[in-house]
Amino acid sequence: MSNYIQGATGDWEIVIGLEVHAQVISQSKLFSGAATAFGSEPNTQVSLVDSAMPGMLPVINGECVRQAVRTGLALGATINLYSVFDRKNYFYADLPQGYQISQFKHPIVGEGDVVIDLDNEQSKVVGIERIHLEQDAGKSMHDQHPTMTYVDLNRSGVALMEIVSKPDMRSAEEAGAYLRKLRTIVRYIGSCDGNMEQGSMRADVNVSVRRPGEELGTRCEIKNVNSIRFVQQSIDYEARRQVDILEDGGQIDQETRLFDANSGVTRSMRSKEEAHDYRYFPDPDLLPLQLDQAFVDAQKESLPELPDAKKARFIKDLGITAYNASVLVAEQVSAAYFEDMLADLAKRTGKAEKDVATAASNWITGELFGALNKLGQSITDSPIAAGQAAELLALQLDGTISGRIAKDVFEIMLESGKGAEEIVEEKGLKQVSDTGAIEGFIDQVMTENAAKVEEYRGGKDKLFGFFVGQVMKKTQGKANPKVVNEMLKEKLDA
Ligand code: ADP
Ligand code: MG
Repeated sequence: MSNYIQGATGDWEIVIGLEVHAQVISQSKLFSGAATAFGSEPNTQVSLVDSAMPGMLPVINGECVRQAVRTGLALGATINLYSVFDRKNYFYADLPQGYQISQFKHPIVGEGDVVIDLDNEQSKVVGIERIHLEQDAGKSMHDQHPTMTYVDLNRSGVALMEIVSKPDMRSAEEAGAYLRKLRTIVRYIGSCDGNMEQGSMRADVNVSVRRPGEELGTRCEIKNVNSIRFVQQSIDYEARRQVDILEDGGQIDQETRLFDANSGVTRSMRSKEEAHDYRYFPDPDLLPLQLDQAFVDAQKESLPELPDAKKARFIKDLGITAYNASVLVAEQVSAAYFEDMLADLAKRTGKAEKDVATAASNWITGELFGALNKLGQSITDSPIAAGQAAELLALQLDGTISGRIAKDVFEIMLESGKGAEEIVEEKGLKQVSDTGAIEGFIDQVMTENAAKVEEYRGGKDKLFGFFVGQVMKKTQGKANPKVVNEMLKEKLDA
């Protein structure tokens, strides 16, 4: 298998498990009423609970529980009707309580799985071990003062879902595909915004290596990596480092490491702490969490169509390619754009959706995404609405304009904001399918190029394209290419 690392003494397999911290979308924190908006002034979103004033009591936020349950359901996971909040004790300047409220032995969500999409239309299932709810810590700021560290508690107490995978990934690519899929799913259901650059999704990356087929090796855990690219870079670096140590006859110390994005290396941070180091115990301020099955069922009912199901439906019912389907479902807005455009296009052309779906999907993944890319915009702020796109493509499909002209019209739409029909009308871009008119142009071209006509008739078939080009030029690209081809053949071969 190509995923193996080739060492001097043979092949090594990389084993990866990810612990993803996903910030729950909710107005207020996990156990307090303080707000959670990103980018607010330091210490403006801190309640007495978040700053751990003596005597304050945590109160569970029902919305955060609901979001964790929906996330579990979207990952096909078991929902535990009984779960417990524990105190995980450690000292840190940005953790005023001296402990984090988390879940240990009884998490809210149990085993599930994520289907990841790999190259060549391959897919693979990565197991989910558990999801638990926990509080985020505050933030120490070391760069605000020459001799002091400042603490911002805005994030203190914000709800996180820790989504723990099984050690099922075997390459940096698989880890990247897993993170992308997870991000797509949480965005679909609106339980996390998935913005890694704002810190609302971060990953602890566990990496080990082993000889193919052997037991799992000793792992290192790279903490708090905040982009998919860095996750992948840190895996490649870390796996190579471990292979080098093992091939030199050394052994891997289980430890916590940091990824330095500037130099691309991982560095030892501390030796790995064990669960017993944290002295976990059930938080006496909180009762165990008991959910009704009816509540869970209602949450399941409320889930939107998820990306895998949508992709399967697009392929089966609409006949579009697996590649286009994957690209379209990666974000809910692009899938919705496609469906809106398709409904409109079917209406305009009087055809069944499945007969125009391939054209629409090709147009979005090709023309539209190409243009948005150039403009540096995302589909969310696409300057061309789905209905306008359908108007353009309908003109092409019914033969009013050629594919060539459609590209120009699209350019003008982007620049002017005008509709396709209006542009075609204004600039006189209607395709000429009128055989009489086309015949006139063909006759002109043949007269002007009499020598070439002789050569063609003498057997130089390759010249055919030249004649097509000349006729199209005379019509400023407006002649229907199919009609031109047919008529030219007829006349030249006459
Ligand atoms: P902890 O909570 O101490 O970090 P867990 O056993 O819960 O330990 O595992 C955390 C993560 O490490 C999981 O995502 C798991 O898949 C991964 N993991 C466990 N063993 C290995 C291993 N040998 N190699 C790579 N990843 C591993
Ligand atoms: Mg861990």
